[in-house]
Amino acid sequence: MHPVFLETFGCQMNELDSELVRGQLSTLGYRFVNDPAEARVVLFNTCSVREQAEQKAYSRIGIVGKRKAAGETIVLGVIGCMAERDGVDLLRRHPQVDLMCGPAELDRLPQLIDNALRTQSAEDAMVLSREERTALAGNRSRRSSTLAAAEDNLETLDLSRAFDDQSIGGARRSAQVRITRGCNKFCTYCVVPATRGAEIHRPPDHIVEECRRLAEAGALEVTLLGQTVNHYRYEHGLAVTVDGRQAAQVGPGLTAFRSAPPASSRVTTFAQLLRRIHDEVPQILRLRFVTSYPRDFGDDVLAVMRDCPRVCKYLHIPAQSGSDRILKLMNRGYSRGEYVDFVQRALALVPDVCIAGDIIVGFPTETDDDFEQTCSLVRELPFKNNFIFKYSPRPGTVAIDRFADDVPDAVKRLRNNTLLAIQSETSRRVHAAWIGRTVDVFFSDVRAPRVSRERSEDESAHENAGTHASVMELPQLSAAGSVGVKALHASRAHTVDSGSTCWQAVGRTSGDLICSAFAATESTAQKMVGRIAQMRILASEPLLLRLNAIPPDF
Ligand code: SF4
Repeated sequence: MHPVFLETFGCQMNELDSELVRGQLSTLGYRFVNDPAEARVVLFNTCSVREQAEQKAYSRIGIVGKRKAAGETIVLGVIGCMAERDGVDLLRRHPQVDLMCGPAELDRLPQLIDNALRTQSAEDAMVLSREERTALAGNRSRRSSTLAAAEDNLETLDLSRAFDDQSIGGARRSAQVRITRGCNKFCTYCVVPATRGAEIHRPPDHIVEECRRLAEAGALEVTLLGQTVNHYRYEHGLAVTVDGRQAAQVGPGLTAFRSAPPASSRVTTFAQLLRRIHDEVPQILRLRFVTSYPRDFGDDVLAVMRDCPRVCKYLHIPAQSGSDRILKLMNRGYSRGEYVDFVQRALALVPDVCIAGDIIVGFPTETDDDFEQTCSLVRELPFKNNFIFKYSPRPGTVAIDRFADDVPDAVKRLRNNTLLAIQSETSRRVHAAWIGRTVDVFFSDVRAPRVSRERSEDESAHENAGTHASVMELPQLSAAGSVGVKALHASRAHTVDSGSTCWQAVGRTSGDLICSAFAATESTAQKMVGRIAQMRILASEPLLLRLNAIPPDF
């Protein structure tokens, strides 16, 4: 069967879509390759939220175009947000593209690829028009009714997911599960409501079952995905298939979150969903969720985070700005005061919760005073990190038509750098407060040593063996903990350097703080991947916690 190369740009939602596409095509016999030069079918799963991701995709499309112009026979597919937003415009500008498929139509992708392959074969025999050559899916209108959602074929795609190494992240044993798709919030800078359509909420039974099957396949960590997960609300009996089964349904409007669900309705809220997964699938040792919306985040969810030990103490909850005036222009639906109140409520109710977010600088009309309010927010609240972006007008958004992009790029750059420096100081404080504590770390990656040319091989070998006196003495292994958890304790630590000349196992705490532990050898570091271990925090950097070293016999 034809070899396929698939490259993904953008967010975790796109990564999950790619995983489902991979599973779907693999089932049909397609073989995936890591080198686009070996592929007969090249697919780019695109993102139109950030300009940089879009430029990268265009560059890749250009490269494939040159190969096709040189006579190679390749089916080039653009899937994801750019396909949905640009539609036929993209085809006109990039005639090398053979098929497009928006995120709401991915169940149709195999058929589109098959059409394109057959059509390409037929091209030798006859000349076809551009329209005839192009298999196009995308730019359907926002799904707007419960009935449409009930017929939602994407739910079938989610349900038909393969449960294999790919779905659980290989040795990393980490998986993602979608709980909602699309968004109803219409922030003025954001293209997601246009590209991913109206918010669709999946039936809770389907989500719990997917988590259970992932756990059976070996997943230790599951991340629940949605654009605004705390707005998950499934009303039972509202959307059913013709044979009476629960179906995905359109999410309620914002007003639904201003009061408790009526007693007469049977509703599963996000808090109830989280608790169900925690209680019904205890093999999942880490249950996390992204992204949260700063409005209508109830104490019920915070209580589940506090009371359920396997629910991660982590909130990614984008503030976007510290200025009420800018928040209003962004149509975020909350004030700075409400955001601060929520974070303080979370800190008070959930011990050790870690807060992260996103911030846009240089939004149209942003003054020095507006920016200063954002700076003070980042100084005031204990953000472990913020992803900081310079505003860029994105086609398909409300802001591109409504506001002139009037903050000069030099000012945006300066504000970006200023805010990064403030965030770095806040991150340093947050991370330093953890020194001396023992935490569970879920290891996911290995970092190779970077040996400078000035160092002799002997010197590097000496450090890599963990005997370098200025780094630390290797710890002793202590008793094993619960399933998949082993306890490690440092026997003695000296000063800790950057560790760049040692193998390192890299992981995260329950609060998503990035951690690194030295290992004597690569195999020792590799053995940690996909495991949860109790580790002691010895030192910190602005974005990293340094742990006790891993003993060679672990
Ligand atoms: S909440 Fe706003 S920023 Fe987030 S996906 Fe929805 S429209 Fe975009």
